[in-house]
Amino acid sequence: MSVAKITVLGIYVADLIFRAPRLPVMGETILGESFAIGPGGKGSNQAVAAARAGGKVSFISAIGEDAFAEIARKIWSGDGVDFSRVAIRKDRPTGGAFIFVSSETGNNAIIVETGAAQTITPETVEAAEAEIKASKVFVTQLEPPLNAARRGLELARKHGVITIFNPAPGLEAGRVLLPLADFATPNESETEALTGMKVETVDQARVAAARLIEMGARNAVITLGAQGVLLHGGGVSELVPGFKVKAVDTTGAGDAFNGGFAVALAEGRSPLDAARFGNAVAALSVTRHGTAPSMPYRADVDAFLG
Ligand code: ADP
Repeated sequence: MSVAKITVLGIYVADLIFRAPRLPVMGETILGESFAIGPGGKGSNQAVAAARAGGKVSFISAIGEDAFAEIARKIWSGDGVDFSRVAIRKDRPTGGAFIFVSSETGNNAIIVETGAAQTITPETVEAAEAEIKASKVFVTQLEPPLNAARRGLELARKHGVITIFNPAPGLEAGRVLLPLADFATPNESETEALTGMKVETVDQARVAAARLIEMGARNAVITLGAQGVLLHGGGVSELVPGFKVKAVDTTGAGDAFNGGFAVALAEGRSPLDAARFGNAVAALSVTRHGTAPSMPYRADVDAFLG
């Protein structure tokens, strides 16, 4: 098997997770029930997922020079993600996400401040052109600045690299990047943000997928939670079913899918096989708590698939 070289462009933020019975009102201080810090950001999560799933991964991003940056370096080093193309900004903090989880309802409220990652520019991406060119697959999302994501996709196209555009979070502005996507991988709500169409059933997903292709994507891969994914394009329109597992935490499931899907495509597998592999990576990730730390290793994925 040839080396599955993948470049991911995206952001890293430290997730600061507070559990408390409720949000304080303005001017009030309340005691929480638990606190945890973990590595987050869709791009970083996808890079870790792809590396653990067997890819040789380069990550393009920007972080600060602080304790949160240390957490990022620790997980990237541990999983063999090459972060030599992650710019260090001395004058900006590493991004952070305040994640409030209500211990009464399980609902959450989040503030994300992407900090140094806002300084990812087209030039940051151009500095990594050699890595992109050497890759089989390039992956990006809508968390980095749009002009930087666009440049990454353009460079990948220029060098004949397969592009995966994960249009997350759901932003209408992401439409302009669809013509640069070999595979667009939105979930249901992100599909709605791009197409204006409701996606609650597989049939609705199929109609929306056709729309995504009219809008310029070569293939649409709509993730449908536990149901799996709808792969639509190139004469194929198939529901690739999810695996039945006992889910304990589905945050980061989409990132796990994208990481696994990228690795399998980079290994030369067909889009259908790659979607099945992505579903397996994502299914294993939802059986564990956390986002990046919940990503499975290749040996576990192979054992799961038998
Ligand atoms: P996101 O995390 O972006 O909202 P989805 O919820 O669509 O994305 O999940 C992404 C993928 O993760 C799905 O296509 C599926 O492969 C897998 N997945 C999600 N939830 C489950 C689950 N409960 N059981 C098994 N697989 C799941």
